Amino acid sequence: MSSIPDHNNNNNNNNKNNNEILNFKQLFKKIEEFKQLGNQEFSKYDKTNDNLNKRAVTYYSLGIECFNDNFEKLKNNNNNNKDDEIELKKLVSIIYSNLSLCFINGYEIDKALEFANKGTEIDKDNSKCHYRKSLCYQYMCNFKESFKSINDALNSINNNNNNGKVIIDKSLKQIIENERKEIEKKLKKLEKEEKESQDRIKEDFEQFQQFPIELVWRDGFGRCVLASEDLPKGTMVLRVSPFASVLEDHKIEKNCGFCFKKINKSIRINQTCKNCKNHLLCPQCSVDEYSLNYHKDECDILNFLKQYYPSSQTRDFRFMFRVLLNVIKDKKNKSFSKENQSKQWLNHQNPFIFDSYKYLINLSRTLDKVQPEQMEAFKRSAQSVIAIFNKLRGPKFFDECGVTIDEIIEIYSIVLSNGHEMLHPLNCHTYGLGIFPTGSYLNHSCLPNAFWYNDDQGMMVFRTLRPIKKGEEILTSYTDITTECSERRKHLLKQYFFFCQCQQCKFQSKLTDQSCLSCKNQLSSSNTSFKIPSNDSIESGFYYHCLKCNSDNKQINCPDDSSSVFTSQHDQRTFKKINLLINIMQQRHQSIATNLLNTNNEYLMKGMPDHIVYKEITNALEQSMISNPSKVSADQVFTNSLIQYYFRLFQTLKIEKPNDTQQLQSVKTKILQLLTPIIHLPTSHHKSSIEKKLKF
Ligand SMILES: [Zn+2]
Ligand SMILES: [Zn+2]
Ligand SMILES: [Zn+2]
Ligand SMILES: [Zn+2]
Repeated sequence: MSSIPDHNNNNNNNNKNNNEILNFKQLFKKIEEFKQLGNQEFSKYDKTNDNLNKRAVTYYSLGIECFNDNFEKLKNNNNNNKDDEIELKKLVSIIYSNLSLCFINGYEIDKALEFANKGTEIDKDNSKCHYRKSLCYQYMCNFKESFKSINDALNSINNNNNNGKVIIDKSLKQIIENERKEIEKKLKKLEKEEKESQDRIKEDFEQFQQFPIELVWRDGFGRCVLASEDLPKGTMVLRVSPFASVLEDHKIEKNCGFCFKKINKSIRINQTCKNCKNHLLCPQCSVDEYSLNYHKDECDILNFLKQYYPSSQTRDFRFMFRVLLNVIKDKKNKSFSKENQSKQWLNHQNPFIFDSYKYLINLSRTLDKVQPEQMEAFKRSAQSVIAIFNKLRGPKFFDECGVTIDEIIEIYSIVLSNGHEMLHPLNCHTYGLGIFPTGSYLNHSCLPNAFWYNDDQGMMVFRTLRPIKKGEEILTSYTDITTECSERRKHLLKQYFFFCQCQQCKFQSKLTDQSCLSCKNQLSSSNTSFKIPSNDSIESGFYYHCLKCNSDNKQINCPDDSSSVFTSQHDQRTFKKINLLINIMQQRHQSIATNLLNTNNEYLMKGMPDHIVYKEITNALEQSMISNPSKVSADQVFTNSLIQYYFRLFQTLKIEKPNDTQQLQSVKTKILQLLTPIIHLPTSHHKSSIEKKLKF
């Protein structure tokens, strides 16, 4: 592949050639051409493609550049009249609005907002542009600003109408009015949520006082969990009992169905439920009244499923039954209270937060964006759950409990969007699924200062990854934080409906991983201008004109020059490298290695033994925070990922370098160093399995 592409030298298409533009009318014509080209590209783009439409962006940007290059110059000209200027500004505003939409579709909400702002600045009556602004603020969870913008959109539509100059777009007005209603609903919901949050702080003061945290409500951020004192690394900040939890399917025959501890092979038969033969209790749980009753309640259901619907004995289905059984307990006779929980829980040395049904249902704020098809699926599942209950517990069972089908659907969606998979701390294999309502209170950051795991009682425990100062917010991560900023933001927006504006994202999104192929200088908007793309550049990057070396070039996302990818510790390339290497390992495992076309990858695929690749990954991760302004070290952020990759390094070393005991020992020491403070290894129920996995 030639690194310098052909580009169009035709003067008519070159925006730098402005000789012929003499007045606003001509400028309008020129910019309109770019807009049309941009619109063409926009309409060609597959709507399901969630990458930025770079070709459309390029044409629109050329239009904007053309305006910026000529407007001031022409303004001093006598040839222009006021109306021409207004028309011109309206056109530029539309282009900004279109750019904003491109960036919304590409999940780059910060840039989308920037363009929408410019668009409304230059023409305050551009209602579409106000509408886009409103959308951006919604993604940023700033609903007050969003409401302001949607009102501006509505006002400007009415203004345009009154002027009689523009024929109002009825469907646009409809869309905006609907959106306004939605935002109003959301604001009401937020108010309710704020009140619920304040209520809980009062009602549950004693429970929360057991932990060094403070629950607060912050405008624009919602509920936040703050440190109520200076906290050293490894401090337990929260411990939450499951509202309900279940084992993974493949663990049912090995682990305790209540506390999830592994049961010794020799006693498994004795610990199995005689009735359903599908449930085990460990020696401690089998003498605990609570855990015995817990299973008694579901035993007939499991038995029924096994007999009549063996394919429905899935984890999620079993989970739903456990959740509903507790909902019913809470609704019917209030027996679902902290005092009635397992004696093992109540007598444990560590305190825990207990969530009644009320606090589960309060999590419904996450349901705004559930897709209709998904809703239908929930509905079908809810109906079959009700049918089974009514069959086994009497035809009026559900009516008598006071649980409606809509409520079950709501519970279903809450549980599935807030459920936490329980993971083994070393290899991250899932062994269970639980819902821990208060565990959902911690907000997300891509630079988290807290980490969670499940302890020997199946509780969700949060510990600090580094020292936290009094008053600082305690944050955990909802996504893989070793992926690139744009990937994380996309994932969080799709999965959790917010555009991440954490410290790390704000820092990393400003970094550039693009450099000029000719002069090797880093590219930024101040030293480049856009070029018309050639036909092959749909996904591969922008065309630009480097103002430093005055050459035309094509931007590429990841330089072919591998040395620059693999040595830089100072920007996003570190994360690119990590992801590239992780991909390589995934592909190796799927043994489709030879399918990789990129020459660098091919070299890496063939040339590097597995353990070297994992070494590269851990090294890159360790160094990734060196120039980060947060001054946090990698092992205090990427603790979890480091443990994972050091463990893979350990496993591959054992195969590829079994005699290198010195290296094996040092990797093992590193893993234990990372692991010990954050899961409190000495008391962990994973202790023996970890020791076994780290034997060599
Ligand atoms: Zn147990
Ligand atoms: Zn049973
Ligand atoms: Zn972030
Ligand atoms: Zn250059």
